[in-house]
Amino acid sequence: MKEIELAEHSGFCFGVTKAVDTAEKELAEAGGDPLYCIGRLIHNRSVSEELEEKGLRTIASIDDAPEGSRVLIRAHGEPDATYEKAKEKGIRIIDATCPFVSRIHRLAKEAGEKGRWFIVIGDGTHPEVKGILGSTSMPMGAVQTAEDAISLAERCRDLPVTLAAQTTMTRGRFDEICGIFRERCADLAIHDTICKATKERQESAAELASRCDCMVVIGDRNSSNSRKLYEICKNICSNSLFIEGIEDLDLKTLQKYNKIGVAAGASAPERIIKEVIANMSEEFTKDQQNEEMNDMAAYMDEIEKSLKLPGRGEVVTGKVVQVTNDYVVMNLGCKKDGMLPKEETAREEGQELTDMFKEGDEVQAKVIKTDDGDGNILLSNKRIQSGENWEEINACASSGEVVNVTIVKEVKGGVIANYKEVSGFIPMSQLADHYVEAGAVAEYIGKTLPVKVTRVDPKRNKAVFSHKQFLIEEKNKKIAEIWNTLNVGDVVEGKVMRFTDYGAFVDIGGIDGLLHISEISWGKLKHPQEALEIGQTVNVKILNMNAEKGKISLGMKQNKPEPWSVIDEKYHEGDIITGKVVQIKEYGAFVELAPGLDGLVHISEVAHKRVGKISDELSIGQVVNAKILEIDKERKRISLSIKATIDPQIYEEKAEEAPAEEQ
Ligand code: SF4
Repeated sequence: MKEIELAEHSGFCFGVTKAVDTAEKELAEAGGDPLYCIGRLIHNRSVSEELEEKGLRTIASIDDAPEGSRVLIRAHGEPDATYEKAKEKGIRIIDATCPFVSRIHRLAKEAGEKGRWFIVIGDGTHPEVKGILGSTSMPMGAVQTAEDAISLAERCRDLPVTLAAQTTMTRGRFDEICGIFRERCADLAIHDTICKATKERQESAAELASRCDCMVVIGDRNSSNSRKLYEICKNICSNSLFIEGIEDLDLKTLQKYNKIGVAAGASAPERIIKEVIANMSEEFTKDQQNEEMNDMAAYMDEIEKSLKLPGRGEVVTGKVVQVTNDYVVMNLGCKKDGMLPKEETAREEGQELTDMFKEGDEVQAKVIKTDDGDGNILLSNKRIQSGENWEEINACASSGEVVNVTIVKEVKGGVIANYKEVSGFIPMSQLADHYVEAGAVAEYIGKTLPVKVTRVDPKRNKAVFSHKQFLIEEKNKKIAEIWNTLNVGDVVEGKVMRFTDYGAFVDIGGIDGLLHISEISWGKLKHPQEALEIGQTVNVKILNMNAEKGKISLGMKQNKPEPWSVIDEKYHEGDIITGKVVQIKEYGAFVELAPGLDGLVHISEVAHKRVGKISDELSIGQVVNAKILEIDKERKRISLSIKATIDPQIYEEKAEEAPAEEQ
């Protein structure tokens, strides 16, 4: 049984697809007006004829285009002069230069700006090479044989030289010529610009050729890449045939081969490939038609499948074939390549595409557009990620789990905060557990905050976050923890937070407890600030806890012994003490020995003379010396005498010195 196999990478490449699609789109929009193309858009007769019927006119150069017309630049690209001339003539350029060729133009331009001579390894007569050399200020020329390379490299020995390849150049030739330059040129820069599509096409054709009795290469005879493909196959499989279409193929001659491979150049449209395969299959299956009809259908289905495009919103898996700084090209196993632009990837800040992707990687992406206007399938990797992130956010909204978001900008009434690829809103009132002034929002930008997800609406892409809710819950958790660890009688460290007339509130690790004025000191206080300062660290004893009301009563005086219980240790009858007058009554004055320990100086014990009014002799706050006359522990009374500390003679002397009272 005969077997036909199509090389894995066959037919229109990404650049040709883009150019043909661009032309068709422009022609459809033009409404019959001609569209000019410099050189043949594609090296394929039937495709060219179809486009010509729709209004595409092939011209030799920009000089042939009428003023004010539209000119399409094909995938090969054009030199700078073409663009300049178009500008002068008011011509609108529709640029379908393949991005891989544009990249070489950029390299050539940069080389010229740096004073480096630019050489293309390729065919100097090819339009692509002419375009490249026409976009640098320092073109040295093109070279494609070892002989020419030796001679050119000798001339460039002392010059700064930059080498690049024509996109369709074979790997072997490129490496050989680079080697020749490396041996001779000290200041050499090499850019491998062989198109990956070409490389893959050549490699898959070569691999298939090594397994087949005969290779059929489909392509236009004027197509550089098709001719090279044929050469490669012919070198491996001598029974290789080069055809432009089914009309060139003598099917009878293929009867002698058992396994026939088919490869196609970048300009071979899929319908021609299908036609060739279908005819070959038909020929081979005449004798065994019934038996193989099903296989044939399945095979055609396979081909059909490879030509079917994925739909919008579909998640596809593709193989990375090229990575640049701006986009990733992916083979999706269908006729169009997938284009994943940088902005549609889930990159970290500063991360490059080349850090994230490499050739051969299998990558999942979502189809955003089946045609991005340049003939590619526009993909997004980030939107898959975004879908997953919405699911995470949704789950957090249900479970109450906390997520970390980054504040990105201020908007009316709040801020926008990102969770990975999901953007949400934090209302101003939910930004903190205190009032945030409008002018203070800027301080939050760029910060990462833990938040609770309070509302999610993935259909409308809306999520609302609350940092305040997170803070309140955390505080409550902490308070619950503290309540569990505290016991009545514990002495804990606290910080004085605020005063009231009846006491002070003390923060004991997240909870405020009340330190009543009567519990601050054993002595009498009129206001807590007589003994405490705001912010002061104090040790307090937990006197009472009411979990239901969330109230804790604290005491500070309890840290010291009750003064009457230890009075014997410090005070004895007959001792002379120093104290402060704290109260004046008609019958005497009270003097504070220590906080909570007051003694009475009876009016008769104030002085060695008759005292009519105590306030004539003493004042509140006055510091006096007094003798302890008696300590009555039972009644908690101390009797003091000031006069017992004064020598009576001093009074007599003072009385003598006093002037006689005027009559
Ligand atoms: S062969 Fe490569 S460089 Fe040339 S048009 Fe196709 S994709 Fe672009």
